[in-house]
Amino acid sequence: MKKVTLSRRQAIQLAAAGVAVPTAFALSGCETTGRKGAGHVVVIGGGFGGAATAKYLKRYNPELNVTLIEPNTTYVTCPGSNWVLAGFTEMNEITHNYDAAKKNGINVVHEMVANVDPAKQTVTLAGGKTMSYDRLVMSPGIDFKWDVHAGISQAAETAMPHAYKAGPQTLLLRDQLRAMPDGGTFVMIAPPNPFRCPPGPYERAAMIAHYFKNNKPKSKLLILDQKNAFSKQGLFQQGWELNYGQMIEWVSLDDGGRINSIDVANKTIDASYGKVKADVVNYIPPQKAGKLAHATGLTNESGFCPVNQITFESTIHKNIHVIGDACIAGPMPKSGHSATSQAKATAANIVLAMKGEEPIWAKNVNTCYSLVTPDYAISVAAIYDIVDGKITDVPGAGGVSPMDGDAAFRRTEANYTRGWYRSITDEVWG
Ligand SMILES: Cc1cc2nc3c(=O)[nH]c(=O)nc-3n(C[C@H](O)[C@H](O)[C@H](O)COP(=O)(O)OP(=O)(O)OC[C@H]3O[C@@H](n4cnc5c(N)ncnc54)[C@H](O)[C@@H]3O)c2cc1C
Repeated sequence: MKKVTLSRRQAIQLAAAGVAVPTAFALSGCETTGRKGAGHVVVIGGGFGGAATAKYLKRYNPELNVTLIEPNTTYVTCPGSNWVLAGFTEMNEITHNYDAAKKNGINVVHEMVANVDPAKQTVTLAGGKTMSYDRLVMSPGIDFKWDVHAGISQAAETAMPHAYKAGPQTLLLRDQLRAMPDGGTFVMIAPPNPFRCPPGPYERAAMIAHYFKNNKPKSKLLILDQKNAFSKQGLFQQGWELNYGQMIEWVSLDDGGRINSIDVANKTIDASYGKVKADVVNYIPPQKAGKLAHATGLTNESGFCPVNQITFESTIHKNIHVIGDACIAGPMPKSGHSATSQAKATAANIVLAMKGEEPIWAKNVNTCYSLVTPDYAISVAAIYDIVDGKITDVPGAGGVSPMDGDAAFRRTEANYTRGWYRSITDEVWG
């Protein structure tokens, strides 16, 4: 990888936007680029990855024609959706729109993409219109595997809401919680790795316990996990016990969590733990990359998309970049923060590639905050470099909250959690 020439203005914009300026990056004096590098970039998906890519493409090269395709006119974030279940956040507080994207000069199209032709470099919308692209970015999020456990299919998502795509599913689960009797049993079936937001199910358990403590204190929450360990486990278990006593029971895969079958009509789960009759079931299915990634042939046997770890260009189809939950990004977790970090690296590299220049490698970042109560939070952070072409943890950078944090420390982290939410959503949709 050789030194890169960006205009001074672009370099300053990159740095200002939080893309770390890497070792191989060098300013090229006051080079002017004119219209070199202009063209059409289509971005599919207006979530964390897609909306951020569109914004930074336009910021790094205002000459670019950028189209963002997203079927919905508003986006409800999964971050914060567990707080809606707890009852202290409303849906309108976690709902965002695309007005700023339009103001930033992005052509926003509210339609579903029906298919992509990688050979012709075209995208066809559900309504039949076809558009061509010079580069395509896909950030379609996740899809669910409904064929892993006996007795369950997608038809069960109303009776047993996953609430793992925020929106109507969040409200369904909230309403079932509200209707549950005091003294009832809530069962969560937590997914196997890899899945969206590794701490997500465990923050959710805490938020449901918070709701129970204040409204239905005789109730119980049982987690039948499809794995043997989980993110921030020690911190979560300490926080659960401190704030909710024995209300949450976590059962690992090998210690009773293995599912034999699910009886949707009777809300009964047959697991190695025994048969459990539940009042509410939150079945979070095993996961794979979003449907369009599969339909475009961008996935491998893992169900996710292999990509160049620097540019996020697919290793299967040229000129298509896949980011966010759908891609394979080494140790980076599938999170909104990861998707936003990857979006900036991808936007910078597309701008360079369209000028015929060499890629740069940016340091990627992730932070995941989780509330245990509205005043008690824990976090994990990591910084990633590229070593031998692979995304790699920077040793000693980041880490998790200390186990011995006192109440004031946890309260400070809860304030950081809300601050993180405001700043990242402003960065992506603001
Ligand atoms: C309960 C929960 C809590 C979470 N908390 C956090 C947190 O605290 N911090 C954090 O960083 N992350 C968190 N996450 C994870 C975060 O939500 C995801 O990692 C993030 O949304 C991934 O972004 P993405 O762009 O890959 O996908 P998404 O945000 O899902 O966006 C995908 C978009 O693509 C669109 N799309 C799909 N198919 C098509 C198509 N064919 N045509 C056009 N558009 C299409 C969809 O409509 C959607 O808007 C949480 C997740 C959950 C479930």
